[in-house]
Amino acid sequence: MTAALWLSRYRCKIAIVDSGEYRNRWTQASHGYLGADPDTPTGLRERALRDLDRYGTASVVDTQAVDARGAAGGFAVTLDRGDELRARRLVLATGVRDVFPDVPRFFDHYGSRIFHCPSCDGYEAKDQPVVAFGWSAEVAGFARGLLQWASSVTVVTDGRRFEGDERHRSALAEAGVGVLTDEVVELCGDPGELCAVRLRHGGVVPCTYAFFSIAHEPRNDLAAALGCALTDEGCVAVDDDGCTSVAGVYAAGDLTPGLQYVQVAAAKGALAGTNCALSLRGDDGG
Ligand SMILES: Cc1cc2nc3c(=O)[nH]c(=O)nc-3n(C[C@H](O)[C@H](O)[C@H](O)COP(=O)(O)OP(=O)(O)OC[C@H]3O[C@@H](n4cnc5c(N)ncnc54)[C@H](O)[C@@H]3O)c2cc1C
Repeated sequence: MTAALWLSRYRCKIAIVDSGEYRNRWTQASHGYLGADPDTPTGLRERALRDLDRYGTASVVDTQAVDARGAAGGFAVTLDRGDELRARRLVLATGVRDVFPDVPRFFDHYGSRIFHCPSCDGYEAKDQPVVAFGWSAEVAGFARGLLQWASSVTVVTDGRRFEGDERHRSALAEAGVGVLTDEVVELCGDPGELCAVRLRHGGVVPCTYAFFSIAHEPRNDLAAALGCALTDEGCVAVDDDGCTSVAGVYAAGDLTPGLQYVQVAAAKGALAGTNCALSLRGDDGG
Protein backbone atom coordinates (compact mmCIF):
# COMPACT_ATOMS: atom_id res chain seq x y z
CA MET A 1 0.00 0.00 0.00
CA THR A 2 2.96 2.34 0.50
CA ALA A 3 4.07 1.59 -3.07
CA ALA A 4 0.51 2.39 -4.20
CA LEU A 5 0.56 5.62 -2.19
CA TRP A 6 3.71 6.89 -3.89
CA LEU A 7 2.47 5.73 -7.30
CA SER A 8 -0.72 7.71 -6.56
CA ARG A 9 1.33 10.82 -5.88
CA TYR A 10 2.82 10.36 -9.35
CA ARG A 11 -0.75 10.19 -10.72
CA CYS A 12 -0.51 6.57 -11.82
CA LYS A 13 -3.54 4.30 -12.02
CA ILE A 14 -3.11 1.34 -9.69
CA ALA A 15 -4.88 -1.93 -8.92
CA ILE A 16 -3.97 -3.40 -5.51
CA VAL A 17 -4.65 -7.13 -5.85
CA ASP A 18 -4.90 -8.51 -2.34
CA SER A 19 -6.02 -11.90 -1.05
CA GLY A 20 -6.18 -10.40 2.48
CA GLU A 21 -3.91 -12.91 4.23
CA TYR A 22 -1.65 -10.35 5.91
CA ARG A 23 0.98 -12.12 7.86
CA ASN A 24 0.26 -10.17 11.04
CA ARG A 25 -3.53 -10.51 10.89
CA TRP A 26 -3.39 -12.73 14.00
CA THR A 27 -1.83 -10.12 16.25
CA GLN A 28 -3.64 -7.59 18.40
CA ALA A 29 -0.79 -5.06 18.53
CA SER A 30 1.82 -4.16 15.95
CA HIS A 31 4.83 -2.50 17.59
CA GLY A 32 7.60 -0.13 16.60
CA TYR A 33 6.01 1.84 13.76
CA LEU A 34 6.96 5.44 14.45
CA GLY A 35 3.90 7.46 15.40
CA ALA A 36 1.75 4.31 15.72
CA ASP A 37 3.36 2.21 18.45
CA PRO A 38 1.32 0.20 19.16
CA ASP A 39 -1.52 -0.04 16.68
CA THR A 40 -3.69 -2.88 15.44
CA PRO A 41 -2.88 -4.20 11.96
CA THR A 42 -6.46 -3.39 10.92
CA GLY A 43 -6.11 0.17 12.31
CA LEU A 44 -2.97 0.74 10.22
CA ARG A 45 -4.60 -0.75 7.15
CA GLU A 46 -7.76 1.35 7.51
CA ARG A 47 -5.71 4.55 7.79
CA ALA A 48 -3.63 3.51 4.77
CA LEU A 49 -6.80 2.93 2.73
CA ARG A 50 -8.12 6.36 3.75
CA ASP A 51 -4.82 7.94 2.64
CA LEU A 52 -5.09 6.17 -0.72
CA ASP A 53 -8.73 7.19 -1.11
CA ARG A 54 -7.79 10.87 -1.08
CA TYR A 55 -5.96 10.41 -4.40
CA GLY A 56 -8.72 8.37 -6.03
CA THR A 57 -6.36 6.54 -8.41
CA ALA A 58 -5.97 3.18 -6.64
CA SER A 59 -8.58 0.45 -6.57
CA VAL A 60 -8.46 -2.60 -4.33
CA VAL A 61 -9.23 -5.93 -5.98
CA ASP A 62 -9.99 -8.43 -3.21
CA THR A 63 -8.82 -11.65 -4.79
CA GLN A 64 -5.74 -13.78 -5.36
CA ALA A 65 -3.45 -13.37 -8.35
CA VAL A 66 -2.74 -16.87 -9.62
CA ASP A 67 -0.37 -16.09 -12.49
CA ALA A 68 1.63 -13.24 -13.98
CA ARG A 69 3.46 -13.06 -17.30
CA GLY A 70 4.95 -10.58 -19.70
CA ALA A 71 2.44 -9.30 -22.31
CA ALA A 72 2.38 -6.63 -25.02
CA GLY A 73 3.24 -3.27 -23.39
CA GLY A 74 3.78 -4.76 -19.92
CA PHE A 75 2.26 -7.62 -17.99
CA ALA A 76 -0.87 -9.73 -17.66
CA VAL A 77 -2.02 -10.90 -14.23
CA THR A 78 -4.56 -13.73 -13.99
CA LEU A 79 -6.94 -13.46 -11.06
CA ASP A 80 -8.44 -16.31 -9.08
CA ARG A 81 -11.96 -15.16 -10.03
CA GLY A 82 -11.08 -15.84 -13.67
CA ASP A 83 -10.43 -12.49 -15.35
CA GLU A 84 -7.12 -10.87 -16.21
CA LEU A 85 -5.58 -7.47 -15.43
CA ARG A 86 -3.13 -5.71 -17.74
CA ALA A 87 -0.44 -3.39 -16.32
CA ARG A 88 2.64 -1.59 -17.55
CA ARG A 89 4.51 -2.30 -14.34
CA LEU A 90 4.21 -4.71 -11.42
CA VAL A 91 5.16 -4.25 -7.77
CA LEU A 92 5.27 -7.58 -5.94
CA ALA A 93 4.64 -7.41 -2.18
CA THR A 94 3.22 -10.85 -1.47
CA GLY A 95 5.08 -11.36 1.82
CA VAL A 96 5.85 -14.70 3.47
CA ARG A 97 3.86 -17.62 4.87
CA ASP A 98 4.78 -18.63 8.44
CA VAL A 99 5.13 -22.29 9.42
CA PHE A 100 3.40 -22.81 12.76
CA PRO A 101 4.11 -25.39 15.48
CA ASP A 102 1.55 -28.19 15.38
CA VAL A 103 0.48 -27.87 19.02
CA PRO A 104 -3.12 -28.11 20.35
CA ARG A 105 -4.93 -24.74 20.85
CA PHE A 106 -2.06 -22.85 19.20
CA PHE A 107 -4.43 -20.29 17.64
CA ASP A 108 -6.06 -19.56 21.03
CA HIS A 109 -2.83 -17.79 21.94
CA TYR A 110 -1.10 -16.88 18.65
CA GLY A 111 -0.86 -13.11 18.29
CA SER A 112 -1.62 -12.46 21.97
CA ARG A 113 0.81 -14.69 23.92
CA ILE A 114 2.59 -16.69 21.20
CA PHE A 115 4.79 -14.98 18.62
CA HIS A 116 7.63 -15.78 16.25
CA CYS A 117 9.59 -12.50 16.34
CA PRO A 118 11.35 -11.54 19.61
CA SER A 119 12.19 -8.06 18.23
CA CYS A 120 8.50 -7.36 17.53
CA ASP A 121 7.00 -8.82 20.69
CA GLY A 122 9.80 -9.73 23.13
CA TYR A 123 9.43 -6.46 25.05
CA GLU A 124 5.91 -7.48 26.15
CA ALA A 125 7.41 -10.68 27.65
CA LYS A 126 9.82 -8.77 29.88
CA ASP A 127 10.42 -10.42 33.26
CA GLN A 128 8.09 -13.29 32.33
CA PRO A 129 8.75 -17.06 32.02
CA VAL A 130 8.92 -17.96 28.33
CA VAL A 131 8.87 -21.19 26.29
CA ALA A 132 10.70 -21.36 22.95
CA PHE A 133 9.23 -23.94 20.55
CA GLY A 134 11.68 -25.39 18.03
CA TRP A 135 14.23 -28.10 17.49
CA SER A 136 16.81 -26.83 14.97
CA ALA A 137 20.33 -25.79 16.00
CA GLU A 138 19.28 -22.14 15.49
CA VAL A 139 16.89 -22.46 18.44
CA ALA A 140 19.92 -22.21 20.74
CA GLY A 141 20.66 -18.61 19.69
CA PHE A 142 16.94 -17.83 19.48
CA ALA A 143 16.32 -19.02 23.06
CA ARG A 144 19.39 -17.27 24.46
CA GLY A 145 18.33 -14.07 22.69
CA LEU A 146 14.97 -14.20 24.46
CA LEU A 147 16.77 -13.76 27.79
CA GLN A 148 17.16 -10.09 26.80
CA TRP A 149 13.56 -9.83 28.04
CA ALA A 150 12.37 -13.06 29.68
CA SER A 151 12.98 -14.01 33.32
CA SER A 152 13.54 -17.63 32.18
CA VAL A 153 13.46 -19.56 28.91
CA THR A 154 12.79 -23.28 28.30
CA VAL A 155 13.17 -24.88 24.86
CA VAL A 156 10.38 -27.38 24.04
CA THR A 157 10.95 -29.49 20.91
CA ASP A 158 7.47 -31.07 20.89
CA GLY A 159 8.69 -34.64 20.59
CA ARG A 160 11.47 -34.00 18.07
CA ARG A 161 15.18 -34.61 18.51
CA PHE A 162 17.07 -31.37 19.26
CA GLU A 163 19.32 -30.91 16.21
CA GLY A 164 21.95 -28.80 17.96
CA ASP A 165 25.36 -30.28 18.76
CA GLU A 166 27.33 -30.27 22.03
CA ARG A 167 28.32 -26.62 21.50
CA HIS A 168 24.67 -25.55 21.31
CA ARG A 169 23.74 -27.67 24.31
CA SER A 170 26.47 -26.21 26.50
CA ALA A 171 25.63 -22.63 25.37
CA LEU A 172 22.05 -23.23 26.45
CA ALA A 173 23.06 -24.86 29.74
CA GLU A 174 25.46 -21.98 30.49
CA ALA A 175 22.55 -19.52 30.05
CA GLY A 176 20.29 -21.64 32.27
CA VAL A 177 18.01 -22.62 29.36
CA GLY A 178 16.60 -26.16 29.66
CA VAL A 179 15.75 -28.32 26.62
CA LEU A 180 12.69 -30.60 26.90
CA THR A 181 12.10 -33.05 24.05
CA ASP A 182 8.70 -34.24 25.24
CA GLU A 183 5.55 -33.77 23.12
CA VAL A 184 3.14 -30.91 23.88
CA VAL A 185 -0.38 -32.07 24.76
CA GLU A 186 -1.91 -28.78 25.91
CA LEU A 187 -1.39 -25.04 26.03
CA CYS A 188 -2.97 -24.15 29.37
CA GLY A 189 -4.98 -21.00 30.06
CA ASP A 190 -7.97 -19.24 28.50
CA PRO A 191 -7.46 -17.77 25.02
CA GLY A 192 -4.93 -14.95 25.32
CA GLU A 193 -4.00 -15.97 28.87
CA LEU A 194 -1.35 -18.64 28.40
CA CYS A 195 -0.07 -19.88 31.76
CA ALA A 196 1.74 -23.18 31.03
CA VAL A 197 2.62 -25.87 28.52
CA ARG A 198 1.58 -29.42 29.49
CA LEU A 199 3.80 -32.26 28.21
CA ARG A 200 2.87 -35.85 27.27
CA HIS A 201 4.78 -37.47 30.14
CA GLY A 202 3.40 -35.33 32.91
CA GLY A 203 5.64 -32.29 32.99
CA VAL A 204 4.12 -28.80 33.13
CA VAL A 205 6.26 -25.81 32.10
CA PRO A 206 4.91 -22.51 33.50
CA CYS A 207 5.06 -19.69 30.94
CA THR A 208 3.06 -16.60 30.10
CA TYR A 209 4.55 -16.13 26.62
CA ALA A 210 5.91 -18.52 23.99
CA PHE A 211 7.96 -17.89 20.86
CA PHE A 212 8.65 -20.26 17.99
CA SER A 213 11.40 -20.60 15.48
CA ILE A 214 10.50 -22.96 12.65
CA ALA A 215 10.39 -21.38 9.16
CA HIS A 216 8.70 -18.79 6.98
CA GLU A 217 8.32 -19.33 3.28
CA PRO A 218 8.46 -16.41 0.84
CA ARG A 219 5.28 -16.29 -1.28
CA ASN A 220 7.30 -16.16 -4.48
CA ASP A 221 5.03 -18.00 -6.97
CA LEU A 222 4.26 -14.90 -9.05
CA ALA A 223 7.90 -13.77 -8.97
CA ALA A 224 9.02 -17.22 -10.11
CA ALA A 225 6.41 -17.28 -12.88
CA LEU A 226 7.76 -13.94 -14.13
CA GLY A 227 11.34 -15.25 -14.03
CA CYS A 228 12.59 -12.95 -11.22
CA ALA A 229 15.90 -14.01 -9.67
CA LEU A 230 15.49 -15.43 -6.16
CA THR A 231 17.96 -15.62 -3.28
CA ASP A 232 18.99 -18.96 -1.74
CA GLU A 233 16.26 -18.41 0.88
CA GLY A 234 13.65 -17.93 -1.86
CA CYS A 235 13.27 -14.15 -1.39
CA VAL A 236 13.01 -11.96 -4.48
CA ALA A 237 16.38 -10.34 -5.19
CA VAL A 238 16.14 -6.55 -5.60
CA ASP A 239 18.63 -3.73 -6.11
CA ASP A 240 18.71 -0.55 -3.99
CA ASP A 241 15.81 0.88 -6.02
CA GLY A 242 13.52 -2.11 -5.45
CA CYS A 243 14.00 -3.38 -9.06
CA THR A 244 13.95 -7.14 -9.57
CA SER A 245 16.01 -8.87 -12.28
CA VAL A 246 13.01 -8.54 -14.67
CA ALA A 247 12.62 -5.08 -16.24
CA GLY A 248 9.38 -3.44 -15.12
CA VAL A 249 8.89 -5.70 -12.07
CA TYR A 250 9.56 -4.24 -8.61
CA ALA A 251 9.37 -5.94 -5.22
CA ALA A 252 9.03 -4.78 -1.61
CA GLY A 253 8.33 -5.94 1.92
CA ASP A 254 9.00 -9.32 3.55
CA LEU A 255 9.20 -10.92 0.09
CA THR A 256 12.59 -9.25 -0.32
CA PRO A 257 15.69 -9.98 1.83
CA GLY A 258 16.23 -8.22 5.15
CA LEU A 259 14.56 -7.24 8.38
CA GLN A 260 10.86 -8.07 8.55
CA TYR A 261 9.17 -5.08 10.19
CA VAL A 262 6.10 -3.15 9.07
CA GLN A 263 8.12 0.06 8.92
CA VAL A 264 10.85 -1.59 6.81
CA ALA A 265 8.23 -3.12 4.49
CA ALA A 266 6.64 0.32 4.11
CA ALA A 267 10.00 1.98 3.40
CA LYS A 268 10.79 -0.63 0.74
CA GLY A 269 7.32 0.01 -0.71
CA ALA A 270 8.08 3.74 -0.91
CA LEU A 271 11.30 2.97 -2.83
CA ALA A 272 9.68 0.48 -5.18
CA GLY A 273 6.64 2.69 -5.79
CA THR A 274 8.66 5.83 -6.47
CA ASN A 275 11.14 4.10 -8.79
CA CYS A 276 8.32 2.30 -10.55
CA ALA A 277 6.59 5.67 -11.15
CA LEU A 278 9.82 7.28 -12.36
CA SER A 279 10.40 4.41 -14.80
CA LEU A 280 7.12 5.32 -16.54
CA ARG A 281 8.35 8.79 -17.50
CA GLY A 282 8.45 9.00 -21.27
CA ASP A 283 6.68 5.66 -21.56
CA ASP A 284 3.46 5.91 -23.64
CA GLY A 285 0.49 6.08 -21.31
CA GLY A 286 2.68 6.68 -18.27
C1 LIG B 1 2.25 -12.43 14.65
C2 LIG B 1 3.09 -11.35 14.01
C3 LIG B 1 3.38 -10.21 14.71
C4 LIG B 1 4.16 -9.21 14.12
N1 LIG B 1 4.42 -8.09 14.86
C5 LIG B 1 5.11 -7.09 14.30
C6 LIG B 1 5.37 -5.90 15.05
O1 LIG B 1 4.96 -5.79 16.20
N2 LIG B 1 6.06 -4.91 14.44
C7 LIG B 1 6.54 -5.03 13.16
O2 LIG B 1 7.14 -4.08 12.65
N3 LIG B 1 6.32 -6.15 12.44
C8 LIG B 1 5.63 -7.19 12.97
N4 LIG B 1 5.42 -8.32 12.25
C9 LIG B 1 5.99 -8.43 10.89
C10 LIG B 1 5.12 -7.69 9.88
O3 LIG B 1 3.80 -8.21 9.95
C11 LIG B 1 5.66 -7.84 8.47
O4 LIG B 1 7.01 -7.42 8.42
C12 LIG B 1 4.85 -6.99 7.49
O5 LIG B 1 3.49 -7.30 7.59
C13 LIG B 1 5.31 -7.25 6.06
O6 LIG B 1 4.48 -6.57 5.18
P1 LIG B 1 4.30 -7.11 3.70
O7 LIG B 1 3.40 -6.11 3.05
O8 LIG B 1 5.59 -7.43 3.08
O9 LIG B 1 3.55 -8.51 3.85
P2 LIG B 1 2.07 -8.83 4.39
O10 LIG B 1 1.63 -7.82 5.39
O11 LIG B 1 2.08 -10.26 4.81
O12 LIG B 1 1.16 -8.65 3.13
C14 LIG B 1 1.27 -9.49 2.00
C15 LIG B 1 -0.07 -9.42 1.27
O13 LIG B 1 0.06 -10.04 0.00
C16 LIG B 1 -1.11 -10.80 -0.22
N5 LIG B 1 -0.83 -11.83 -1.22
C17 LIG B 1 0.12 -12.80 -1.18
N6 LIG B 1 0.11 -13.52 -2.29
C18 LIG B 1 -0.89 -13.00 -3.06
C19 LIG B 1 -1.40 -13.31 -4.34
N7 LIG B 1 -0.90 -14.30 -5.08
N8 LIG B 1 -2.44 -12.58 -4.83
C20 LIG B 1 -2.95 -11.56 -4.10
N9 LIG B 1 -2.49 -11.20 -2.88
C21 LIG B 1 -1.48 -11.92 -2.38
C22 LIG B 1 -1.47 -11.37 1.13
O14 LIG B 1 -2.82 -11.76 1.17
C23 LIG B 1 -1.18 -10.17 2.02
O15 LIG B 1 -2.31 -9.33 2.11
C24 LIG B 1 4.66 -9.35 12.80
C25 LIG B 1 4.36 -10.52 12.09
C26 LIG B 1 3.58 -11.51 12.67
C27 LIG B 1 3.28 -12.76 11.89
